[in-house]
Amino acid sequence: MNLSRRANSITASPTMAVLEEVAKLKDKGIEVLDLGPGQPDFHTPESIKLSANKAIEENFTRYTEPAGILELRKAVIEKYRRDFGAQYKPNEVVISSGGKHSLFNLMLAIIEEGDEVLIPAPYWVSYPQQVILAGGKLRFIELQDENQFVLTRDILEESLTANTKAVIINTPSNPTGSVIPGKELEKIAELALIKRIYIIFDECYEKLTYDGIKHFSLAFLQEAKEVTLIINSVSKTYAMPGWRIGFALGPEKVISTVTKLQSHTTSAPCSISQKAAVEALSGSQDFIKDMLAQYTRRRDYMVEALNSIPGISCHKPQGAFYIFPNITQILESKNINSSEEFSRQLVSHARVAVVPGSSFGKEGYLRLSFATSIEVIKESLKRMKKFVEGL
Ligand code: PLP
Repeated sequence: MNLSRRANSITASPTMAVLEEVAKLKDKGIEVLDLGPGQPDFHTPESIKLSANKAIEENFTRYTEPAGILELRKAVIEKYRRDFGAQYKPNEVVISSGGKHSLFNLMLAIIEEGDEVLIPAPYWVSYPQQVILAGGKLRFIELQDENQFVLTRDILEESLTANTKAVIINTPSNPTGSVIPGKELEKIAELALIKRIYIIFDECYEKLTYDGIKHFSLAFLQEAKEVTLIINSVSKTYAMPGWRIGFALGPEKVISTVTKLQSHTTSAPCSISQKAAVEALSGSQDFIKDMLAQYTRRRDYMVEALNSIPGISCHKPQGAFYIFPNITQILESKNINSSEEFSRQLVSHARVAVVPGSSFGKEGYLRLSFATSIEVIKESLKRMKKFVEGL
């Protein structure tokens, strides 16, 4: 019997494929150093875990409102007021089972069959697949390495067509670590208002920026509220990827549609995780500083080590926890036909796992995560250098 055309139109998450490959080798007793992770290696802070324990003890274990508990939606609103001076009402916020879920529900809510969605490349792997599942058409915007892969209003304007419904913007970016400057985002929002397109604004890595650079949220621009659909999550900032809590903020008509979709699919996010997320957003934020200090040290080491390998070059990322080095020189001079083939050889000869740039819509690059210990990073880079020198 056939499976559905819709399900067959997408491919499994390629970053998951790396994790599976690593798991397979580990299962055979072969040690692999993994630079693939898309999640923090830190543990969820104690105060957050305690609030979840309390929720269980108090039997907070029933279904909640489909949009998420009011207490958490109010905590999200307060966070957006505190950080960005934004004014949102409870019916303009919906809590979902992770940012990925928020994003997919938003796509289902706004995309009509055949609507075009613009995706700047390199992109996070799930964007194109979710657009396809929602019935939309993909249109990629090729970003340039020499501009540090930053989207500008001019590039966006050139890519618009009469069928453009939305553009997906991710800053800080997975996989490049680029951060879009506020001035540029203001111009992009102005264009979206003129052209009547939605901006799906994924700021899951908002708190992970370095060297004094500050993330600029579209939530600062209340005049662009009607076209701004914000996605955020507790996964990265609070080291809570397994708790599955994300949220979306936007115009009431979009958010109520997302809530309706949720009410018939997941019913509501996990009640216990919602209580934990209240503590994450409202409690002490001190642990973020410590986490950032460790990420900074790892990033600096990794950038320097990568740039010392002949044929590899990379920028110092301003945000998130990824580095996106250019390996085109190696591919050309060593006759290796793709970043995937390079990654395969690297795993099989050096036992170091990375994600090929092709997974993110950019051939000739790799994505390395520094959400792992400095020891693993040092040993991996040593092995990688030896591997490249031996090619
Ligand atoms: N957006 C980006 C750019 C991501 O990298 C991720 C996770 O890797 C997400 C959204 C979703 O995260 P979660 O579903 O854990 O909230």
